[in-house]
Amino acid sequence: MTAPSTRLDRIRQRLEQANVDALLVTNAHNRRYASGFTGSNGWLLIPADETVSPKLATDFRYLEQAAQESPDFEIVNMNGGIEKWWGELARPLGRGRLGFESNDVTVAAHKQLRDVNAKLPASQRPALVQTDQIVEQVRALKDEAELSLLRRAVALTDDAFAHVQRTMQPGWTEQQVSWEIEQYARSHGAEGMAFESIVAAGPWGARPHARPRDEAICEGQPIVIDMGARYQGYCADMTRTIVLGDHDDTFPRIYDIVLAAHETAAEMVEPGMSARDADQLARQVISDAGYGDQFGHGLGHGVGLQIHENPYLGMTSRDTLESGMVITIEPGIYLPEWGGIRIEDMGLLDDDGFHSFTGTPKLRMPA
Ligand code: ZN
Ligand code: ZN
Repeated sequence: MTAPSTRLDRIRQRLEQANVDALLVTNAHNRRYASGFTGSNGWLLIPADETVSPKLATDFRYLEQAAQESPDFEIVNMNGGIEKWWGELARPLGRGRLGFESNDVTVAAHKQLRDVNAKLPASQRPALVQTDQIVEQVRALKDEAELSLLRRAVALTDDAFAHVQRTMQPGWTEQQVSWEIEQYARSHGAEGMAFESIVAAGPWGARPHARPRDEAICEGQPIVIDMGARYQGYCADMTRTIVLGDHDDTFPRIYDIVLAAHETAAEMVEPGMSARDADQLARQVISDAGYGDQFGHGLGHGVGLQIHENPYLGMTSRDTLESGMVITIEPGIYLPEWGGIRIEDMGLLDDDGFHSFTGTPKLRMPA
């Protein structure tokens, strides 16, 4: 069992900063994070005032589950249309300011919300206010319960990779490798994959987000494998680039540059650094080697309940890195006619620097 009360405290602090009296949480990941509720439908109302109990509205399918998973929340039955229960959910607020999640509520949902809210008596009608990523910002800093789930997801990923590396042969298709990874992960405790694995051989690997094809893998091709298991909602993310049989001369040359970029970033990244500067650590190494234009994506990203979360490590990021974030470090070089090389670890950033959770060894090229 996680400790949702401390999560609630951290959210409440942010509500005061955002100048709202309560937050309406509609985003599914934020709902799970703040309440522990894993059902597929529900809204939270979290008052800034800790003496007022937070509410979880869900439909009849989940009432029992919600009461069990979210003991800190008062359960509201989403019975009938929203006009039937909106008043009950919003009542403790009176005429206060109610923040909604502007990056989650659609224009249509906002109109519906505004209309139903307008029907409440004036003395019980909160003002609807836009908020931006309040819970997402809290989620960027992981607590102990989350760290252990993330470590478990990474360990399953390491094991699945080791399995496929042992078993795969030239002639296997990319899809076959992807399925072998998933099969292994799921039969060893993963609830699924965090995303569809990328298995991209030869020139196909020059596309950073290539989908696995029904194409046989040949000896000597660079093979980008980007994969991650999901465990109790938490995602892992790892990339390794390998070759079956003998590689060509390009492979070690490019691989060493990417590895140096990866290691430089992993050694030098620290809390307090801007996420742009962190990106630059690796980008500089790749640019100095003459491949700056072939590293067309960001250095990394936060990982948690979602595969891509705050912060974003890239040239356009405005985030600042903080102790307690779990991030990936994943530089790559992509050569259109040839293929790609990417090396990705994920781990915890704390006051001592970056600590990788990923246990899968990286290739070491003979000097
Ligand atoms: Zn990845
Ligand atoms: Zn990633």
